[in-house]
Amino acid sequence: MDQYTGRIREIARRLLQESKVDVVLGFQRGTLPMINQPILINEPAQVRRLNWDSFCAGNLTTYLPRRRDRIALVVKGCDSRNVVLQILENQIKREQLYLIGAPCHGMVDRRLVLAALNGREPMEVTVTNGQLRAKGDDFIEVLPRDDYLQENCSICTHRNPVLYDELIGDPLVGHGQVDRYADIRALEVMSEDERWHHFHELLAPCIRCYACRNACPMCYCPVCFVDESMPQWLGKSIDPTDTKTFHFLRAYHLAGRCTDCGNCERACPMSIKIRLLTKKLEKDIAELYGYEAGLSLDQRPPLDTYRPDDPQEFIR
Ligand code: SF4
Ligand code: SF4
Ligand code: SF4
Repeated sequence: MDQYTGRIREIARRLLQESKVDVVLGFQRGTLPMINQPILINEPAQVRRLNWDSFCAGNLTTYLPRRRDRIALVVKGCDSRNVVLQILENQIKREQLYLIGAPCHGMVDRRLVLAALNGREPMEVTVTNGQLRAKGDDFIEVLPRDDYLQENCSICTHRNPVLYDELIGDPLVGHGQVDRYADIRALEVMSEDERWHHFHELLAPCIRCYACRNACPMCYCPVCFVDESMPQWLGKSIDPTDTKTFHFLRAYHLAGRCTDCGNCERACPMSIKIRLLTKKLEKDIAELYGYEAGLSLDQRPPLDTYRPDDPQEFIR
């Protein structure tokens, strides 16, 4: 059992027994290896279903907007930043939440592991001492865990929760010096035509299923602009113009609000590297406003504030 699992169960049991919260939101083992499922429990007897390991990549804060009950939930670094943003944007109240903070060692990318297994179907994948052990009917494969992290985790600079009521592990150190933007710099030196072609190819496989939007904790509008019919902002087809419009507009809606939690990319059934759009805006916001999303309750995202000295050179 992962060292965090025991702590999460202990805290969840205590909170439910003392009626400090109505529900606890965490993870339980999924029916397939490497896919843990969100679980909402409201009885102390159910805490044994809670689980933590390297496959808790999902961002539980996606389930928070507009809830009215008192909720305890486990938050990694990125998740906690989404909580901060949702509080600032009036989607949830701080006093409704009990945050169980999990300093995060990064989450494993299931697709990378499956690719390494080269078609062999794992029945069980466990992690011990930094090693992934995949076991199938007729094989056992051992892989170094840290070589199989999600891309966003491998460049994550905020692994410790920024907001929590109780921390279940020692804060992690030494993840601040990562180069987050090598791929974005490669985009920026392209000509306009090259860049357009790059995004055209990137988005060509999109089937407009909206899993990326639905998985995003910051995409909580009751009616998304793509679903509006009066007025209809864009067509419903997978026509490349409509598809690109959806993705570019969605990315702009996330400017200064995306925590690079990776939930969108993980949800995409077509394995589209959709974070390339939001990361470009993350870099722009950092350079223009010196702001990183969700680090503090005292600082709102720059695009929902106005200051007379805001940069205005782009206005023609
Ligand atoms: S982005 Fe950072 S905090 Fe979030 S799961 Fe990955 S390593 Fe953990
Ligand atoms: S756009 Fe993707 S990476 Fe950014 S907050 Fe939403 S789900 Fe997370
Ligand atoms: S999840 Fe993937 S396929 Fe679905 S709309 Fe988003 S980018 Fe397109």
